[in-house]
Amino acid sequence: MPKIVVKNKIVNLNGDEMARVLWNKIENELILPYLELKLSNFDLSITNRDETNDQVTSDAANEIKKINVGLKCATITPDDKRVKEYNLKKKYPSPNGTIRNILKGTIFREPIMIDKIPKIVDHWNKPVIIARHAFGDIYRSKEIVVNKKGKLTICFEDEDGNKEEKLIHNFETGGVGLAYFNVFESINDFANSCFNFACKRKVSLFLSTKNTILQKYDESFKQIFDDVFKKFKKEFEKNNLTYQHRLIDDMVACLMKWSGGFIWACKNYDGDVMSDLVAQGYGSLGLMTSVLQSPDGKILKSEAAHGTITSHFRQHQQGIQTSTNPIASIFAWTRALKQRAIIDNNSGLLKFSENLENICIETIDNGFMTKDLALMCGPEQKWITTNEFFDIVKNKIEN
Ligand code: NAP
Ligand code: MG
Repeated sequence: MPKIVVKNKIVNLNGDEMARVLWNKIENELILPYLELKLSNFDLSITNRDETNDQVTSDAANEIKKINVGLKCATITPDDKRVKEYNLKKKYPSPNGTIRNILKGTIFREPIMIDKIPKIVDHWNKPVIIARHAFGDIYRSKEIVVNKKGKLTICFEDEDGNKEEKLIHNFETGGVGLAYFNVFESINDFANSCFNFACKRKVSLFLSTKNTILQKYDESFKQIFDDVFKKFKKEFEKNNLTYQHRLIDDMVACLMKWSGGFIWACKNYDGDVMSDLVAQGYGSLGLMTSVLQSPDGKILKSEAAHGTITSHFRQHQQGIQTSTNPIASIFAWTRALKQRAIIDNNSGLLKFSENLENICIETIDNGFMTKDLALMCGPEQKWITTNEFFDIVKNKIEN
């Protein structure tokens, strides 16, 4: 069949280990044979990040900023063990963090729904999309341990030396203390990303906080979201969407009661915890996608939520055929292609991307799946290797 022409570029960030093996297979077997597509390639493997002193990561992020659509393979975030393993010059920061700081976006994690795969929470039959405000709060906090009698205060000093000080606690015995912060600009960006994503995907949005207790801190999140919502109200009404603020405890109860189909905007810590809870509720990490959306809604970078799957890579290195689930990585490609299709008004590309997603889902619904999914279906369910899965999908694209 003739290749579909994709006029504008997509930025392709390659990564590490088993995720890289999957990534290259997807590109070479499922995408490039069918699309005339120009990729702007960046090698974010740990060895190339080391060679370029991590310059490649910021270069890639700036290219996404220019071209608006990017996709990223999972990458190693080095710890001490990795520094030794790869003889690295230093312990580089998480590439995802570097990219997010440059694009200033929000990450939305969304499960891929497949009928055949049993869910731990059975009635979640539509996705719950978690948006995490990945800035500030406890992740940028300062802690203190107190071992004497004394007072703990919090103090703000402005540029002119004027001070505002508040007593936190008069310690009679030992204890601990903590201070943290956020900035309005970041919360505002978070709100804009969330409303833009809700409009794009046509799903309702809920923000959770504990503003009954934190009447200034958490209330400012609610206020900023309320303000930003004014801009989006018409678009929400037009699409029959709702926006609501709810207390975090109430929202957790709703999550269990409801059947999904909404975006949940979480503060930093809540998002950290809830994204793992929701991922488990839906099943496998191999079915979780992740999209970074800029505040203005223009830039999108998609990826799989899982890591580089080191344990499978060790087997692969020994020449053993693995049964690694490529679905989330395939969807990273299709989600970016869909975004390109929408921006460029390319209906052929949109159809190709949707078809590829449907083929993946249909293949699993027909009982052909990797081991991680088969284990969820029960002892009767057979599993196939990654290569066998690719062969089936490729065959279906061509027929
Ligand atoms: P991981 O790569 O997500 O793997 C954890 C385990 O989950 C695997 O050992 C495997 O379990 C299972 N798994 C994950 N994805 C799977 C898939 N597609 N198919 C089948 N099974 C899958 O997390 P990790 O082991 O904690 O991290 C490994 C490396 O990835 C680290 O260097 C970390 O820095 C990096 N990482 C990168 C990103 C990113 O770039 N976004 C995110 C997370 C982690 P079994 O072994 O039981 O089969
Ligand atoms: Mg977590």
